[in-house]
Amino acid sequence: MSQKRLLLSPEERERYLRQLSMADWSEEDQVKLKSLRVTVMGIGGAASSIINNLLLLGIGELVAIDQDRIELSNLNRQFIHNVEHLGMSKAESLMIYARRLNPHVKVVTKQIEINETTIDRTLDPETDLIIDTFDKWASRSIVNRFAVRHRILYLMAGVVSNCFYTALLHSPHTPCLNCLIGRFQSPSLVGSFQSAIFGINILPIAAMGAFSIAELIKYLKTGILTNYFYFGSLYNTKQDIRFFTLFLSKHFRRISEEQGVRWNPIWESEGIVKLTLSRDPTCRVCSSSKHC
Ligand SMILES: [Zn+2]
Repeated sequence: MSQKRLLLSPEERERYLRQLSMADWSEEDQVKLKSLRVTVMGIGGAASSIINNLLLLGIGELVAIDQDRIELSNLNRQFIHNVEHLGMSKAESLMIYARRLNPHVKVVTKQIEINETTIDRTLDPETDLIIDTFDKWASRSIVNRFAVRHRILYLMAGVVSNCFYTALLHSPHTPCLNCLIGRFQSPSLVGSFQSAIFGINILPIAAMGAFSIAELIKYLKTGILTNYFYFGSLYNTKQDIRFFTLFLSKHFRRISEEQGVRWNPIWESEGIVKLTLSRDPTCRVCSSSKHC
């Protein structure tokens, strides 16, 4: 976070009056939000919910990155885009949405594919937080390595079927993404699942956005990471969550079972699973980091 002292303008005080009126929310908390620069990877469905929350709450600066253009099949869940923007880049569409929703937030968007070659010249290592909503684990792996290397707070969040998952990570104080979801390098899994179309409902996207940004606010207020992983399921019907379970690391399966949770490709339980995380001492990303 920026160390320079920021103040709220009279207009911002009025805009944020209802949240400033909460018993557990002070002007100091609002200023902490205003000093925050957040980078969001992806401007799709999961990002819609997260970006919406960040804009409404009043962060200082949002940087959002996505290479794609808007298609009709995006619009059942990617609510920051609309029919008038079909064919437009998601980056440009977000600029229009953000300006109308909260002009106090500085917004920068980039239409670029993130890979091993582009990440270093695209992401700013001085950003306070990276929120990774990419829909490919291989892409998230690249972002995770960047976050570990530069010791940046990293929020992993996503949805699958009627379920969502989220965790706020900060290596080396917490596990990194690779400690938890470490099988995305397998060519057979990448080939069969990374390009498949998995069902996604709009409802868990909203829940994921709320749980994710609540973790961020807890951290901003206390300076302490909860080290929790949340998995939420909205229904007790059979749900295909292979996009999540197939990539889980042995370490994550073990700590889950120690806390009474066994991951199955078909999930039939309703409610929130909350797990306390720990690092994988053999993780080849964070254990080999020169900072550790
Ligand atoms: Zn790790």
